[in-house]
Amino acid sequence: VVAAASSSSPAVTTAEAGEVPATMKAWAYDDYGDGSVLKLNDAAAVPDIADDQVLVRVAAAALNPVDAKRRAGKFKATDSPLPTVPGYDVAGVVVKAGRKVKGLKEGDEVYGNISEKALEGPKQSGSLAEYTAVEEKLLALKPKSLGFAQAAGLPLAIETAHEGLERAGFSAGKSILILGGAGGVGSLAIQVNQPDTHHHCISIHQLNLHLTFTWPERTSRTLQLAKHVYGASKVAATASTPKLELLKSLGADVAIDYTKENFEDLPDKYDVVLDAVGQGEKAVKVVKEGGSVVVLTGAVVPPGFRFVVTSDGSVLEKLNPYLESGKVKPLVDPKGPFAFSQVVEAFSYLETGRATGKVVISPI
Ligand code: NDP
Repeated sequence: VVAAASSSSPAVTTAEAGEVPATMKAWAYDDYGDGSVLKLNDAAAVPDIADDQVLVRVAAAALNPVDAKRRAGKFKATDSPLPTVPGYDVAGVVVKAGRKVKGLKEGDEVYGNISEKALEGPKQSGSLAEYTAVEEKLLALKPKSLGFAQAAGLPLAIETAHEGLERAGFSAGKSILILGGAGGVGSLAIQVNQPDTHHHCISIHQLNLHLTFTWPERTSRTLQLAKHVYGASKVAATASTPKLELLKSLGADVAIDYTKENFEDLPDKYDVVLDAVGQGEKAVKVVKEGGSVVVLTGAVVPPGFRFVVTSDGSVLEKLNPYLESGKVKPLVDPKGPFAFSQVVEAFSYLETGRATGKVVISPI
């Protein structure tokens, strides 16, 4: 980070190469509300780091529905104090390490979800900023095969997909229905389960192409991903008509068009249902006896249960080989990545509920 020193403006923060400035650009709000509360602050304080934290120079960030719900004041009771710099997901470079940091060092390219508990005292100084302070244990080295924008879209969503499957006791040979298969969580949950598909179609460029024209077909059963990650016997997922081919390209065996069919009226029953939409009442109708219904949002009807994701860098480390090899691919919404100046637009797009994969902000 190099800013030109100027004798005429002594208030401007200056830094030699490699030094960290005292202030930074950050999006922030000092009151709860709609997107209009978001303001770009040119002179926000660069956060201090605790002994177990590193300071990350943010290269890319991603939005999650929790960012919008938090901004709207839905989690006021357990939120950190205002003003808030939003953002959970980050990818960037370590520029400083605390005294107790063991594994990471300056220059490491990392990614992660910076708030250990999404709703309980999430970080006041989030990832929609030039710098963010993060506990080492919440980060992992970024897979080399992924760019910062792709990596930034992964952490919170893939940790949620992983934790949901773990809590559901998912394992090889089981079947799963994913409600909301085209969203941030669903698009990764499908893949983490997928029974050996062959697809190379999820780069931003190609995604644009295929959204405009056609999604690639499943072409091979050689990758054996599911055998390595979870080993689903059958993956079904729901989405609207234009996204059905996407579900298949991600590895779904069955793509259910929710605009034409009610999944709860179909004959199939599943070992696990992952509800990323808020259809808890219907979800319990399609689970096999003794199966699990994991609900991420909305009503919870027994035997359904809900959890809130815990950030954990070791989960990312565990999944890194699959990401590195391309067996699991990040899905960046083709309307993005949004420029750092377009964070308000990115939020309003996320809040349409129609995003395909992740809403990413890059570069920062
Ligand atoms: P997204 O914003 O990425 O989801 C958007 C997707 O949802 C779109 O692709 C859309 O597809 C799909 N969708 C909307 N309505 C339906 C429907 N009726 N049936 C099927 N698909 C539908 O959200 P995320 O995946 O990031 O999160 C999903 C939910 O889970 C959110 O409410 C979020 O807050 C919650 N969540 C909870 C967590 C927890 O720890 N409990 C953690 C992470 C997320 P289409 O355009 O085809 O409708």
